[in-house]
Amino acid sequence: MPSRPSPSRVVLVAVLVALLGSCAGPGSAPAAPSPPPSPVADPAPAAPGPATTTTTTTARPGAFPIPAGATVVIDPGHNGRNGPGSGIDRPVPDGRGGTKPCNTTGASTADGYPEHAFTWAVSQDLAARLRARGFRVVLTRDSDDGVGPCVDVRGEAGARAGAAAVISVHADGGPTGGHGFHVLYSSPPLNAAQRGPARALADAAVTSMRAAGFTPATYIGKGGLDPRGDIAGLNLATVPSVLVECANLRNTADAALARSPQGQQRLADALAASLG
Ligand SMILES: [Zn+2]
Repeated sequence: MPSRPSPSRVVLVAVLVALLGSCAGPGSAPAAPSPPPSPVADPAPAAPGPATTTTTTTARPGAFPIPAGATVVIDPGHNGRNGPGSGIDRPVPDGRGGTKPCNTTGASTADGYPEHAFTWAVSQDLAARLRARGFRVVLTRDSDDGVGPCVDVRGEAGARAGAAAVISVHADGGPTGGHGFHVLYSSPPLNAAQRGPARALADAAVTSMRAAGFTPATYIGKGGLDPRGDIAGLNLATVPSVLVECANLRNTADAALARSPQGQQRLADALAASLG
């Protein structure tokens, strides 16, 4: 730390950062054929983040590095009019040869506060924070008063937008005695973006949530990480993507956190800090 890096070293680091940035997916073809197998499989590559002195983003130790001005897709889980008769039960491809329902109604607190309202609120807060830092934000739905989109459409949203990262915002409906967040990523991986970068993004999200004082789930996953093969949106993603179950709505303390504007803003702060 006390010694300054030589100019040549700065250039080298800048080139490496640029290469990593391009591997993160913006503008890449949906099949993502070019990225090397696991360039950021280890959390360590996040370390070059602080060297991105040419960017306007704030260096964040442990964050998932994305280029200044990059596109981020935020996927607010579920939607306000998902329900019986809305057509959300129809099967869509799950990305592993099977099908899943187009979308679901989601969880709710014991007193009826719905997950779709929570994901919408946190996503709005998160979008504002990322836009304020110069990122372009694309949301997978434009209101909390519609149906869908289907999980396969959500899964392909990152590639469609040329996104450097996708964060899908959810809250769980777990056992009442369990609490805390967990971060899902596709496993086993189906493409280069899932093989290394998605895991690195998941690690960054866990690091950021923990740093903000949130507890890794006590009832599912391990240390806040939950590798999954059954999430269509993650299976179909060809850019680094994670799904964050921010809290357990069936747990009294988590429910209070999830429905309070202050809690939602704290969660948005933590998720925003996981990028850049
Ligand atoms: Zn959900």
